[in-house]
Amino acid sequence: MPDTQLECCDCKKQFTWTERDQAFYTQQGFDKPKRCKDCRAKRKEDSLVKIAIRAVEAWEGWDGKPETKDAVGTAIERLKDAAHRVRK
Ligand SMILES: [Zn+2]
Repeated sequence: MPDTQLECCDCKKQFTWTERDQAFYTQQGFDKPKRCKDCRAKRKEDSLVKIAIRAVEAWEGWDGKPETKDAVGTAIERLKDAAHRVRK
């Protein structure tokens, strides 16, 4: 399929779904994108904030149990990973 114009469900702006992206989405079995690149980046940041809050809450509520510490460690790892992806 050639490049297609889609409407972002958040900001209602038109954005281009390129032929290359379409191939990638099809290959991954994803539905067509609902949001433009900017809104997707914004949502990624929002989810980063949520993970960060969870990590802080787990840390503050640390009851001295090793599994709580593990949960915090996992949250921090996810955060690092997500931060890396956002920066790209
Ligand atoms: Zn948008």
